[in-house]
Amino acid sequence: MLFPDIVYGPIHSRRLGNSLGMEIMPLEHKLCTFNCVYCECGWNTPVQHPHLPTREEIHQALETKLSTFDFSHATIDVITFSGNGEPTLHPDFPDIIKDTCALRDRYCPSAQVTVLSNSTQLGRPDVVEALKQCDNRILKLDAATDTMMRRIDMPVNGELGVDTLIRWLKQFDGDFTLQTCFLRGEHNGLPVDNTTPDELEAWYQAVEVLHPKHIMIYVIDRQTPEEHLEKIPRAQMEAIAAPLTAKGYDVQISA
Ligand code: SF4
Repeated sequence: MLFPDIVYGPIHSRRLGNSLGMEIMPLEHKLCTFNCVYCECGWNTPVQHPHLPTREEIHQALETKLSTFDFSHATIDVITFSGNGEPTLHPDFPDIIKDTCALRDRYCPSAQVTVLSNSTQLGRPDVVEALKQCDNRILKLDAATDTMMRRIDMPVNGELGVDTLIRWLKQFDGDFTLQTCFLRGEHNGLPVDNTTPDELEAWYQAVEVLHPKHIMIYVIDRQTPEEHLEKIPRAQMEAIAAPLTAKGYDVQISA
């Protein structure tokens, strides 16, 4: 499923509340540095010259939405960047965040500017600084072993490893939400499962190193491009969360 507008909603999100969505990737196809087996936008499609909305178009679309929104009948809890791919890939991402925070301050100061990111651009200081300007950074780490991370997320840069992602995530000193999708199944004849004891042990260790302020764990919810995936039952998600909750981590389960 692709998001057809730069600004859409607000829609009620099971994880975020009343969320005004921001789509700053191409509206026609997904553009991402991962190709996750569970991606709700489907598989990546190679495109030579992707058309991205400009900073000005994004500013205009958000200002139009907020200036005409009837705040007496509905609320906007969050302005959320996610959608058809990886928002930090936009070359003007830092300025777009600056514009969004300014419009938020003018029209709905209590709304939280939130970015969902796959963490792959955290090697860029401008992206890290922009994310620090946001109220919430929801950053993906689906597995803490290279083998499983690559099987689940299929990074376009096949060299990308978990150690690098963890080093980059440490730049936030725990001031972020760690996001992990738990799933199991098969892709290209290989098992895909981040719920095995070994995978969980590695992931718990990564959590301890990163010490995130919040943790969101969730399950597949819609149709996935890889059909041979199964949804992890709620009881197992609770069992995964339990050792972290016992240590005082704030763990939110969407299952
Ligand atoms: S990071 Fe997000 S948008 Fe990119 S492939 Fe994975 S689920 Fe899809």
